[in-house]
Amino acid sequence: MTNNIILLKLGEIVLKGLNRRSFEQKLMSNIKRRLERIGNFKTYLMQSTVYIEALDETGDIDAAFEAMTKVFGVVYVNRAASCEKDAQKIAELAISYLRDDMLSAKSFKVECKRSDKRFPLNSIELAQFVGGELAEAYPDCTVDVHEPELTVHVEIRDLAAYVHAAPTPGAGGMPVGCNGIAVTLLSGGIDSPVSTYMIAKRGVRLIPVHFFSFPYTSEQAKQKVVELAELLTDYCGAMTIEVVPFTHIQEEIRDKCPEEYFTLIMRRFMMRIAQRIAAANGAKAIVTGENLGQVASQTMEAMASTQAVTDLPVLQPLIGMDKEEIVRLARKIGTFDTSILPYEDCCTVFTPKHPKTKPKVYEVAALESVLDIDGLVNEAVEGIERIKVGK
Ligand code: ATP
Ligand code: MG
Repeated sequence: MTNNIILLKLGEIVLKGLNRRSFEQKLMSNIKRRLERIGNFKTYLMQSTVYIEALDETGDIDAAFEAMTKVFGVVYVNRAASCEKDAQKIAELAISYLRDDMLSAKSFKVECKRSDKRFPLNSIELAQFVGGELAEAYPDCTVDVHEPELTVHVEIRDLAAYVHAAPTPGAGGMPVGCNGIAVTLLSGGIDSPVSTYMIAKRGVRLIPVHFFSFPYTSEQAKQKVVELAELLTDYCGAMTIEVVPFTHIQEEIRDKCPEEYFTLIMRRFMMRIAQRIAAANGAKAIVTGENLGQVASQTMEAMASTQAVTDLPVLQPLIGMDKEEIVRLARKIGTFDTSILPYEDCCTVFTPKHPKTKPKVYEVAALESVLDIDGLVNEAVEGIERIKVGK
């Protein structure tokens, strides 16, 4: 008998044209890479279930379990015990393995799944047998097939029988990498880590881009972004942050353009640079944490002017969410506490007192035409610093 097994149930493959094989291959390689950070594990996939077993004492099964709840493409994560496919042994295993669960629950039922049809008892017979043995061992926990507090799961699979209590919900979504690549604009704020997480959940591999305005924004502000990206690797896998030097562009805009257009013109530069980084990396979209009406640069008119300079789709997964919903997600994914550290962002440098909220695209384009746009973009792209996070 072994307690050291984790069973992962895979999510639905929703995209037509995305075949099961590529979905499964991406998922398995993502899982293996996450587990390498923890210890030695054996992983294999059979019958739409991924099995994870610790190979030695370096394989911390609790840490592996925790990590697996953050892998996209998995709907349920189960800690399970396994034994030989023998009804008596299964009942004994259930009695010992689920002791704490059976002692704390008032009612239970047993649910069996039998993918190995050669097993002599059918699902109902096996559930009745194991249920009877459990009821005898734990007389204070009564059988309730309608609304039990505890559901004991027994699965008869190819290699062995598995026993587990209620499954833990997985991260859902699709395996990172199976829906292409996008760049994600990552500031140090609350929103953009959440937007990054949401697009990763749809199976997209992400390249974080951060605009850095040293010395107006500090080294600590950059470290904060690195830390946020590091936290996101639990969900997104390893990433390389592209840190773009943005100071010269901001100074040029400040010196040569009207103050009320400062943010708008700055955001157009962000998009142009993001598009260049996308092209260099095969990325097909730009992700931002924009949210309708949240600030002056997030009106529909302002977004039209920002997006006019790129051909790529701009994905804004937070566009219709309330701040509380975004904060709730930020807390869930563990980025909130880092996001609220009080370092300045480049958007807060030279912020206009009266930003233009309803700009016309042609006006913004005319006002920025005094700048050497291509030269500034090239200079910024050439100065990019790349920082790897995660493994
Ligand atoms: P966040 O909390 O993500 O900073 P925000 O509500 O503060 O968002 P803005 O500052 O207007 O909004 O920025 C809108 C979006 O632009 C951000 O969500 C992010 O995607 C991108 N962005 C802003 N500043 C930067 C930066 N310094 N580097 C990279 N992207 C940025
Ligand atoms: Mg911000």
